[in-house]
Amino acid sequence: MIRVNPHYPKLQASYLFADIAARVRAFEQRHPDRPLIRLGIGDVTQPLPEVCIRALHAAVDEMAHSETFRGYGPEQGYAFLREAIARHDFGARGAAIDADEIFVSDGAKCDVGNIQELFAEDVQVAITDPVYPVYVDTNVMAGRSGDWSRDHYAGLTYLPCTPDNGYVPALPTALVDVIYLCSPNNPTGAVMTRAQLQQWVDYAREHRALILFDAAYEAFIRDPELPRSIYEIDGAREVAIEFRSYSKTAGFTGLRCAYAVVPKDCMAWQDDGTPVSLHALWTRRHTTKFNGVSYPVQRAAEAIYSTEGQQQIRALSDGYLHNAQLIRSGFRALGYACTGGDHSPYVWVHTGGDAWAFFDRLLEQAGVVCTPGVGFGRCGQGHVRISAFNSVGNVVTAMQRIAAALKG
Ligand code: PLP
Repeated sequence: MIRVNPHYPKLQASYLFADIAARVRAFEQRHPDRPLIRLGIGDVTQPLPEVCIRALHAAVDEMAHSETFRGYGPEQGYAFLREAIARHDFGARGAAIDADEIFVSDGAKCDVGNIQELFAEDVQVAITDPVYPVYVDTNVMAGRSGDWSRDHYAGLTYLPCTPDNGYVPALPTALVDVIYLCSPNNPTGAVMTRAQLQQWVDYAREHRALILFDAAYEAFIRDPELPRSIYEIDGAREVAIEFRSYSKTAGFTGLRCAYAVVPKDCMAWQDDGTPVSLHALWTRRHTTKFNGVSYPVQRAAEAIYSTEGQQQIRALSDGYLHNAQLIRSGFRALGYACTGGDHSPYVWVHTGGDAWAFFDRLLEQAGVVCTPGVGFGRCGQGHVRISAFNSVGNVVTAMQRIAAALKG
């Protein structure tokens, strides 16, 4: 008899986006003449940079001729891309990462989900609250969450991110083994400073813990004092794996390319205390289960590291940041406290009260779709996430409608 993974039934159905879709559908049926503006889901809206399109076309042409055709490539990614990443994303910022510590993949979502396959089933997992739900659900699937108990999993350690701590988690009081950190954060938009990250690295070194650092939104950081990589922090090479993505950096959500960094100094331990290289384990896992990102897509990713490419991706994130600034200043002018939006494409608005009630109010009265914060965790109650991924025209109109609705 084929039996199911006993942990899957513990998963809470992801009602968030389904619920939003149902409410939006009902609104559209009731008001077919009122066009909605969607500032909910975090998908990019602007087309790929010109350099990427050119690189894609050229690579596709190479595939058309036997002399330049490419079949299977290296599972970890072509050297031309891994070397460009090591040089530009790390070396240029004083972080020592070798090209062979970089594993190119088809998404940070897969990487953050797959990495925990390397850890024992009973390691204690810490996640922030609110949180990008993939960290939680993949640990539920692996049997590390314990049972669902009303509004949380009994076996996870939750690190509250609230107005009181500026939405940056404090160190846990009980010991944990794996810590998921995301900066700039989805959904709160909060960014961790060097000093804050240093505390976590020191904690991980002291307790032989591991930090899984999700830097999917690093391209939105503008303050040169803020770390864009955890490897800018002393000691991080021993205790941190970092995830990056071209999805938000360069509009690759539909093209798919990302990478994970697993330094050779990073260790996990066997029951008898023998250290094991996580780089060796991830190499084994990645090369066993993954056959590489397609050649044209890797060429498109490489293209963003040219001077022209850097200008084009900068213009993309500048555009979204401009939207975020309009959103933030609009809500502040209406008297709402906000975080995010200055170094991230998300603005986290402290609405107080019930997040779904605020969602309904924006939908019904302004025709604007946002995301209720409670969908990301208990501490998201009383907040909504507004995404800057839209055209500036839509954002301006949305903020005019929101101002009229909330003042009324
Ligand atoms: N990490 C975070 C924090 C995200 O918000 C997202 C996407 O929204 C991802 C990872 C997924 O990135 P990718 O498109 O590379 O799978």
